[in-house]
Amino acid sequence: MKKRIVMMGECMVEMFQLVENVYHQAFAGDVFNTAVYLKRSCETPVDVQFFTAVGTDLISDKLVRAVEREKVDTSLMFRAKGVRPGLYMINTDAYGERSFVYWRDTSAAKQVMQCFSQQGNLTDVLGCDMFYFSGITLAILSDSDRRALFNLIHQLKEQGSQIVFDPNYRPALWSGIESCRAVFTEAYQLADIAMPGLDDHKVLFEHSTVQQIKAFLTELDVAEMIIKDGKNGVVGCFAGHDFAAAAHQVKKVVDTTAAGDSFNGGYLAARLADIPPQDAVKYAARLAGFVVEHTGAIVNKEHFQRFWSRHRPSTFVL
Ligand code: ADP
Repeated sequence: MKKRIVMMGECMVEMFQLVENVYHQAFAGDVFNTAVYLKRSCETPVDVQFFTAVGTDLISDKLVRAVEREKVDTSLMFRAKGVRPGLYMINTDAYGERSFVYWRDTSAAKQVMQCFSQQGNLTDVLGCDMFYFSGITLAILSDSDRRALFNLIHQLKEQGSQIVFDPNYRPALWSGIESCRAVFTEAYQLADIAMPGLDDHKVLFEHSTVQQIKAFLTELDVAEMIIKDGKNGVVGCFAGHDFAAAAHQVKKVVDTTAAGDSFNGGYLAARLADIPPQDAVKYAARLAGFVVEHTGAIVNKEHFQRFWSRHRPSTFVL
């Protein structure tokens, strides 16, 4: 039977500076980026549903169409009146240093739980094979909406959905480190698969090594973990068995945006195809290596297609 993954998060309008005062407009956001790379990486059909809220304005319509173009299901993209999607600008200075400016304080995605309770049905989400969310999904919600989301995840877990969590820590979205730590710990306790970055844990939990993160997640009963460390690759553990994947050697790193997101998408596509973790990480590393060789979060479809035809996930099975 066709598998189904529900992925909850925010997709924003991205304005990427081409030259002084000239911007390219796209759509991006951590969970959305992962959804796109997951869907593109599937060798057999998988229903990928993006769970969010957008507004009722023209740019929201455009965002929904962009999601549809990726063949990601939009039936869990709810409409909130009087608000718009968040927006961020990427500026590059004369030395190639990138800086980000965000307008997301009142973005529509923050209302996803309210929209879901008014416009959606529990049955639309229950029964999915996998549910994916990130620390950013949690950060943009109010305390009561976050509680409602945790209750929903509890129900999903009880019904047998696999829960996947990437903390993606963004200090600016949290009022304090203590509260964030408590929320992420709760998320990890619900997660069957955790995909943290070493950098996040260094700041948040004062873990300085991958082994410390592994011990921490094992204590929280996480069965499958992939710990990402940029160009040093990843270390994983599944059912007590350790494995690793080196980062792919790339000719030139152009832009590391969405390295972790694409890695997650590739890994989960392979796992949904029942490829074992130690092989899934190899495809994921190859995909993330390809993504960092390109500008922007989402590499255009034609380029991706050429990559995929040579490196589809099953070609990495030992
Ligand atoms: P996150 O942002 O989630 O912490 P990472 O920065 O650790 O993610 O990157 C995820 C993966 O992307 C790495 O495991 C590696 O496979 C790939 N990657 C990241 N940076 C590079 C790089 N400079 N060269 C090649 N691959 C990279």
